[in-house]
Amino acid sequence: MSSYPPEVTPSEGEGLIEVIKDWALAHGLTVRPPPAVLPVEADPVGILATAVPVTLFPSPFPRICFDQAIGVQKAYNELYASISQDEDFLAQVVKEIGDSDDFITELWKVHLKVKEEGYVQHKSLGLFRSDYMVHQDGTGSIPQVKQVEFNTIASSFGGLSSQTSLLHKYLSLTEYPLLENSIKRNGLILPENDSAAGLAAGIKHTFVEYGPSMTGHEKCVIFLVQGGERNIFDQRHLEYELQKSEEPQIPVFRLPFSEILQHTTVTKDSGRQLLYRPPQLASHTFEVAVIYMRSGYGPSDYPDQSAWEARYHLERSAAIKCPTVLTQVAGTKKVQQVLATPETPSNPSILPHYISKDSASISNLMNTFTNIYPLDETEAGLKARKIAADPELCKGYVLKPQREGGGNNIYRSSIPPFLKSVAESHWPSYILMELITPPPVKNTILRNGKLEHGGVICELGIYGTCIWDQQSKTILHNEQAGYLLRTKGDKSEEGGVAAGFGCMDSCSLV
Ligand code: ADP
Ligand code: MG
Repeated sequence: MSSYPPEVTPSEGEGLIEVIKDWALAHGLTVRPPPAVLPVEADPVGILATAVPVTLFPSPFPRICFDQAIGVQKAYNELYASISQDEDFLAQVVKEIGDSDDFITELWKVHLKVKEEGYVQHKSLGLFRSDYMVHQDGTGSIPQVKQVEFNTIASSFGGLSSQTSLLHKYLSLTEYPLLENSIKRNGLILPENDSAAGLAAGIKHTFVEYGPSMTGHEKCVIFLVQGGERNIFDQRHLEYELQKSEEPQIPVFRLPFSEILQHTTVTKDSGRQLLYRPPQLASHTFEVAVIYMRSGYGPSDYPDQSAWEARYHLERSAAIKCPTVLTQVAGTKKVQQVLATPETPSNPSILPHYISKDSASISNLMNTFTNIYPLDETEAGLKARKIAADPELCKGYVLKPQREGGGNNIYRSSIPPFLKSVAESHWPSYILMELITPPPVKNTILRNGKLEHGGVICELGIYGTCIWDQQSKTILHNEQAGYLLRTKGDKSEEGGVAAGFGCMDSCSLV
C-alpha cells in the first residue's frame, strides 16, 4: 500500500472538492463558518453552515493498533469509573496541583460543598474518549498505540465522526474507482463507526437509569452548551440520534451554561429534582434526568462567581451528570500522569488498586502509556525538571497544564524559557510528557474549498460510555462506542479541528 493514498490529478482534485463539499452539506458534516471564512456581520442570524475540513482519503492506519485501542476501551471506562469513586485519591491530586491552579481549586470546592450536605444522586455517566497516536520504536518493530490523553468531559466529534466514516465509504464506492490511480470498489478496509448512535445510547441508558419522574413533570435531557458554538452540528447529531428513540421518548434541550440559574430550579424537598422551564415554552416544566455537558470544562465558562454557583446548583441536584465534578477531576492530566509515571520499587503503579479482576486488562492499559512525569520534588519530578531545563532533552517532550480544549500545551524548545517565566512554586501544576512520534503518513486535506497536500499526523480517539453508582461502587453499563480519527498537517503541534488546525478523517486499516 505504499502508493496509498493515491496522487490525484488537478482535475480529479477539483472533481473531488465538488463531490465532498456537497456530500458534507447534504449530510451535516458541517460547522458554522469560522470568522476567517465568513465575517460575523455577513451572517448576523447564523443561517449558514460550511463543510468541516476533511481528508480526501481515509488515512492508512495499522489494523493491529486500531484493534488494540478498541480492545482496551472497556478497561479504560472501568478505570475512570473507579478513579471517580476514589475521593481521597482525587483530593490528593487536587492538593498536588496546588493553589496556583484556581480553576481546579474552585471546581473541587463545588464537590466539597455538595458533599457537606450529601449527594442525592449517586449515579454518574461518563461519555469518554481516549486519544492515541501510533508509536513505533524502530523500523520493523510492531507499532502500538500510545495514549495522548483521556477525556472525561465534553468529548467532542462523535456526531461528525460517524458521518466522516460514511463520507469515505461513499467515496470508496463512487469516486475512488474512477481515479487514474484507481482503488477498486470495496478495496479499502473501512471499519464501521457508530460513534453518534453509541454516545446517544449511553445517554438513553442513563435517562432510563434515572427512574420515573418524581415531580409529575415529564423527564428531559439537557445539553449544557457554550454560547456561539460553531461545532453545533456535531452536538445536533447526538441529539437527533437520541430523539429517534420512541420508547421512551426523550425530550432534549440545549441550555447555555450562562443561563442555568435563569431557567432551572432545584426542588426544595429532599429529592432535589432539577426542574427546567424552556424559555420558548413558558407553560412547560420538565424534570431533568441527565445533564450532558459540552461546556464547563475551562475557566472561560466561569467568568464570575455566579457561574460557579450555577455549577454547584447542578451538582447538588438529582439530575445525573455527565460528568460530575469528581469525574471531571479524574480526567485531569495530573491523574493521567500519576497512572503513567514509570514504576519504581518505591513508587509502584496504582493500576492494580482500580482494576482488580484480571491482570490482562492491567497490562493492556499499561501498554498504552507513554512516560509522563510530575514537575514536583519527588524522584520522578526532579528527573523531569532536569529534562525540562535541558535545551537538548526537552526536544522530546511536551509540557501540559491542567486544561482542556486545545491550545494550552508548550512544546519542545519552548519548554525551558516557559518554565523560567513561571514561579517554581507553580511547577507542580504542570506535567511533562514524552512526545509520541508516529510513522509518516501522507494525505490531502480539503479545508475551506482548498486542497492541502503533504505529511500528516493522525490521532485516533475511541469513545466509551459508562454508567456507575458511586455509592454501591457498581458499574451499570460499560460499552465501547465508535471512534474518531483526527488528522493534522505534520508541521502543526496541535490538532484541534474546531480550532482550525486539524481535520476529520477515518481509518483505512492496513
Ligand atoms: P487538550 O486537552 O488541549 O486536547 P492534549 O493533551 O490532547 O490536550 O494535547 C493537544 C494536542 O497536542 C494533541 O491532540 C496532540 O496533537 C498533541 N499532543 C499532546 N500530547 C502529545 C504527545 N505526548 N505526543 C505528541 N503529540 C502530543
Ligand atoms: Mg486533546
